[in-house]
Amino acid sequence: MSPESKRILIVGAGLSGAVVGRMLAEAGHAVKIVDRRPHVAGNCHTERDADTGVMVHVYGPHIFHTDDAEVWDYVNGFETFRPYRNRVKTTSGGAVYSLPVNLHTINQFYGRTFRPAEARAFLEEQADTTITDPRTFEDQALRFVGRDLYEAFFKGYTQKQWGCSPRDLPASILKRLPVRFNYDDNYFFHRFQGMPENGYTVMVERILDHPNIQVHLNTDFDRRDMAGHDHVFYSGPIDGWFGFDLGRLGYRTLDFERFTHDGDWQGCAVMNYGDVGVPFTRITEHKYFAPWEEHEGSVLYREFSRACEPGDIPYYPIRQMNEKALLGQYLERAQGERHVTFLGRLGTYRYLDMDVTIREALDCGRRYLADPDSMPAFTVDPL
Ligand SMILES: Cc1cc2nc3c(=O)[nH]c(=O)nc-3n(C[C@H](O)[C@H](O)[C@H](O)COP(=O)(O)OP(=O)(O)OC[C@H]3O[C@@H](n4cnc5c(N)ncnc54)[C@H](O)[C@@H]3O)c2cc1C
Repeated sequence: MSPESKRILIVGAGLSGAVVGRMLAEAGHAVKIVDRRPHVAGNCHTERDADTGVMVHVYGPHIFHTDDAEVWDYVNGFETFRPYRNRVKTTSGGAVYSLPVNLHTINQFYGRTFRPAEARAFLEEQADTTITDPRTFEDQALRFVGRDLYEAFFKGYTQKQWGCSPRDLPASILKRLPVRFNYDDNYFFHRFQGMPENGYTVMVERILDHPNIQVHLNTDFDRRDMAGHDHVFYSGPIDGWFGFDLGRLGYRTLDFERFTHDGDWQGCAVMNYGDVGVPFTRITEHKYFAPWEEHEGSVLYREFSRACEPGDIPYYPIRQMNEKALLGQYLERAQGERHVTFLGRLGTYRYLDMDVTIREALDCGRRYLADPDSMPAFTVDPL
């Protein structure tokens, strides 16, 4: 190490911590990364199922999609990405439909043979035009697609996912018209889409494979660990940094009920369940995430969503008014901390796709390298 090299502590070996760590290690700094889990890659962690040999997305399905060419080049520098298109189905009212709601879904649902303009005109008749100023998720959906499609495809799923009525969720969750008037059932619009051939954990292990990086797994961060380090990059929960002393930021957590099957069970990677009477939101059949592999057996997860309690894994930040107010208080305190930068989905209490996580981590690392002595608590605004 040269005399200019800094001693960096990173909390979290997910994508945020790994990408910043790699950049600083390549610049000659000494990087120590701690993670309380027994593996790297955070929530993107993948591993081979012992019974079936299938690559399992342990914390829920992860599909890589981006328009960011630098991020796409970055991940391809550490792992081969195979072409993958996310095509989701849903079971609702005893029938299977294609998602996102597209011309096929509309024609199946109404038993029609509409062409695009006809379907658009038909849905305009279904839409509730009395709603001029939609404030809730429900208003917004009724205004866009009418009651039938809303109840079949949006209402039950949203209620199960968020644990509250869509009437209590803001309209902003359903920003654009959630319907396509063609047969395009590719879930994402992004230019680059794919799956890592050997899973995300292998990719993250390669990102971390640098002589200046030491990774300590099964290791909880302790504020006393800051001593002896020039700077901390913290990708754990921001409220956790302060010992949750103002209260806990609200999250939804997920429970996965694993089951196996000989052969194919549902014929696709993701099957949503829109009916409120079905307690889970979706079933994922993991072998379909790696269509280039062949497996006799199959492993599946039923996914249940519920309020996150202390000790659960926080998945989706709720970010309603109350949570944002509490976040504001934590942010104010965080701004006063020295030699620490908060990043990633937990450090900034935001839902972030993987590509955005990597983009923000690259920008954060660059900012530090440009001027380590004036590194702020945040390089993005969490509000
Ligand atoms: C169900 C689900 C599905 C998703 N699907 C997709 C998808 O299809 N496509 C997509 O692009 N993105 C998807 N995402 C988003 C993706 O998971 C995130 O972008 C990514 O995980 C963020 O990485 P991160 O490093 O910021 O956080 P994390 O992956 O959460 O990593 C943070 C790490 O910090 C560790 N940690 C926290 N606190 C401490 C502490 N005090 N001490 C030690 N270690 C600590 C944790 O153990 C964890 O490993 C999905 C997310 C969820 C929840």
